[in-house]
Amino acid sequence: MPACERKADALLLRAAASVAGNVFCRSGLIVITRATLRRNFSRSKDAKTQGVRRQALTTNAEAFLVYSIRMITEVEPIPAAVVQRSRDVASERLQTDSRILAYTRWDIIPVAAALLHCAYFFGMFCLFPYVPLWVMLALGFTYSVSISWNINGISHNFIHNPYFRSPLLNRLFSILESVTVGFSQVFYECIHMQHHKGNADRPDESGDMIDWISIYKHGHDGEAESALSYTFLSFFREDPKTAYRELKRKSRREAFWGVTELTLFVSNFVILGILNWPYICFLLPFWYFGHCLSYLNGYYRHYGGNPDEPMA
Ligand SMILES: [Zn+2]
Repeated sequence: MPACERKADALLLRAAASVAGNVFCRSGLIVITRATLRRNFSRSKDAKTQGVRRQALTTNAEAFLVYSIRMITEVEPIPAAVVQRSRDVASERLQTDSRILAYTRWDIIPVAAALLHCAYFFGMFCLFPYVPLWVMLALGFTYSVSISWNINGISHNFIHNPYFRSPLLNRLFSILESVTVGFSQVFYECIHMQHHKGNADRPDESGDMIDWISIYKHGHDGEAESALSYTFLSFFREDPKTAYRELKRKSRREAFWGVTELTLFVSNFVILGILNWPYICFLLPFWYFGHCLSYLNGYYRHYGGNPDEPMA
């Protein structure tokens, strides 16, 4: 059987396992409820009350049992379209026999680029005391452009299709990226997946929206806000608390790693500042500007699109 079909079948198997787990839990619930009903009934001493209670409890127990049995037996079948879609998605994925990379050996290119970018980041710090200011300004501007290039290239690919088979290597790569671009990759993934759910949607009647970074969020009369304000203000509108709550809801483990990455990149900036405070004063504006460029990229990726017909 081809690998893509094995993957699709694994998805179905997982769905079946979840149904089996559901059945098991509900069966346990019935046993517990029956035991509780019996215990409550035996506590009552008055014969008349006992009779009334018995009738009520029996009726309730029967109703509950019928409901539970229905819930157990009426398992919703997985629609054929969903099965086909999962097969299509599985067959679209690239396959490789590499023992390190997960999807294709070509991913060595973004991985190498990320390592070079990290070396460039620390290289700027090492060069700072020795080169003239104009060279540093050119290097700083290049760092800004490269933040946007990294986020929208290396990092974006990584959060959708983690490069490595090994979870440990993926975790280390995520930390390396967080330190290099100065933002947690786990948080970025959370915010970005929320973006894909809403795809730059318009606020509804109550002003709520799905996409936290939609270009319509701060616009007026259903229009997108200006490119300038979106580019330069989005950085300050980031809401790590909401992202953290969502992360924690999905996985406490990921929330832990998200906070760890934030701590690591901020600590790295603090250490660089302690070692050479003029350097961090030089770096911070370029770091901010790099993230602004990334927002600018996001703005024009969605500007002019139809928010009522979201596309991934
Ligand atoms: Zn994406």
